[in-house]
Amino acid sequence: MGMFKTCCLLTSAVVALSATMGLSTAAAGEAKAGEGSTAHQALKKLVKGNARFVSGQMKHPNLSAERRAELAKGQSPYAVIVSCSDSRVPPEQVFDAGPGDLFVIRVAGNIVGDDAQASIEYAVGVLNSPLVLVMGHENCGAVGAALKTETEGTAFPGAIHDLVESIRPSVQSAMKRAEGDGVLEAAIQDNAERVVAEVADSKPFLDQAVAEKGVKVLAARYDLDSGKVTFYDHHVAHDHGLDHDH
Ligand SMILES: [Zn+2]
Repeated sequence: MGMFKTCCLLTSAVVALSATMGLSTAAAGEAKAGEGSTAHQALKKLVKGNARFVSGQMKHPNLSAERRAELAKGQSPYAVIVSCSDSRVPPEQVFDAGPGDLFVIRVAGNIVGDDAQASIEYAVGVLNSPLVLVMGHENCGAVGAALKTETEGTAFPGAIHDLVESIRPSVQSAMKRAEGDGVLEAAIQDNAERVVAEVADSKPFLDQAVAEKGVKVLAARYDLDSGKVTFYDHHVAHDHGLDHDH
């Protein structure tokens, strides 16, 4: 497939998305011309915001009336965060971000089903968010439930069953390479990385955004004790010159 066709496909997708969401293409264009962060700039903002959170030096940005008035006209969030619904993992606080900064999807176990996938496609395709961060966390109850199912045969009722089943492959993978308490941590990592791979390879839209538009999809872990967010791919911090920011 040539560049022209790919480009048009992406544009069509965005126009279709804009129409579906009741947005004018002008509004989408406005958002694009607005803050327009790159993935690198977005990563820097997240890392710096998290460092402020960890050290208790939060700025609580973008809470002014002026910013609200600006945002009423359109949004251009610099990152999409897929995080667990766990009450201890609130993305805006963890990254010391304000309204308009983050496009947040929260679901137990930070998994991505069809609705979450559509939300990510909208944020990347229409709002031009350059970065998608899938954030697992220490002691995740959803992953813990999948582990219990695998090791003790625990059965969960209702929709929890389906959620647990979608995380179970990560537990099975983790059990092959970790032991004892390490299995839960390994499963949390595997789950976040699995979701990243699925999102980054998803067709016909996000795979193109990653390949051709510099969009990055990354996995990270939130530590409940320290409040620190760490990228599972250790090269990320180094490649983006972020390891000296702490
Ligand atoms: Zn969780």
